[in-house]
Amino acid sequence: MERIVEIERFEGEGRYEQSLRPSSWSEYIGQQKIKKNLQVFIKASLKRSEALDHILFFGPPGLGKTTLANIISSEMGSNIKTTAAPMIEKSGDLAALLTNLEEGDILFIDEIHRMSPAIEEILYPAMEDYRLDIIIGSGPAAQAVKIDLPRFTLIGATTRAGMLSNPLRERFGMHFRMEFYTPKELAKIIEQASKKLEIGIEEDGSLEIARRSRGTPRIALRLLRRVRDFAEVADEDVILLKRAKYALDQLGVNHLGFDEQDIRLLELLVSAKGRPMGLSTIGANLSEDEGTIEEVIEPYLIANGYIERTARGRIATTKSYELFRLTPPYKNQEVLFG
Ligand code: ADP
Repeated sequence: MERIVEIERFEGEGRYEQSLRPSSWSEYIGQQKIKKNLQVFIKASLKRSEALDHILFFGPPGLGKTTLANIISSEMGSNIKTTAAPMIEKSGDLAALLTNLEEGDILFIDEIHRMSPAIEEILYPAMEDYRLDIIIGSGPAAQAVKIDLPRFTLIGATTRAGMLSNPLRERFGMHFRMEFYTPKELAKIIEQASKKLEIGIEEDGSLEIARRSRGTPRIALRLLRRVRDFAEVADEDVILLKRAKYALDQLGVNHLGFDEQDIRLLELLVSAKGRPMGLSTIGANLSEDEGTIEEVIEPYLIANGYIERTARGRIATTKSYELFRLTPPYKNQEVLFG
């Protein structure tokens, strides 16, 4: 079953998102620190007529990394080419991408932690010296070729900063960690999108959707679309608070934005009664991929204080026990130092 608060893009969702994607800073809500820094760096490099330094964005999916890359390209007045690391299979694929760039262009590589080591090796001199070092052919006829590249900016996005190799990470001049959005910021994003979709929405209606969106614009926009369906069927041309609440309950998203999968994870950790549980045990119990637990399910629960990551595994916090109206087996301090 599709998970309504799944943060990866659903099949066919790209077009809907594309139509709602902010194209300027004024429409890009939140992430103030990142925005301010980028605005300064963009101004400076425009003034010096230089390409922008390479940039790395990291954080869970759906928080606006691709959107940022697109805004940067339009602010710089440069072209952007977009790809994802798993699509670059051979060194020739990367060489083709790089040699097709023009001075000042932006190359956006999503899921950059999934780049193969052989391809990474080619990226190093390209990032550092704008030079392509490749071997053409094989056997005795193999030839080393050096090609000068135009000055370009690489923007990398990753959900798993820890999986990036050190040499690759170090070659990015700027690193930015994306933050989860506050309900207020998400409500603004929802209102902005409603205007574009030409639907009315009550102020507390958008806040209700925002609160249940796991701090993630992608989920907020998806829930808005589903709630709009409920409103349409009920013949209402404005999304009312009560309709939003009803629709979200029907969709199985609780008042905290948790769905069945979040609840199952919390229940499992609470049942361990304070004993830390390793990622592989959790994965086996939930029949869920470890990467998905670590990258997609867990970060929001950790950011909101429901789970703690310790050296020996994951622990449910007092807040989780309270959610299930259970007495925690420890005091909060013991979790921190346990
Ligand atoms: P990521 O690349 O991190 O997975 P995206 O940039 O694709 O995320 O964002 C998902 C959708 O959420 C975008 O299509 C965009 O419409 C919306 N969005 C993301 N961040 C913002 C923001 N700060 N303000 C407004 N809309 C946003």
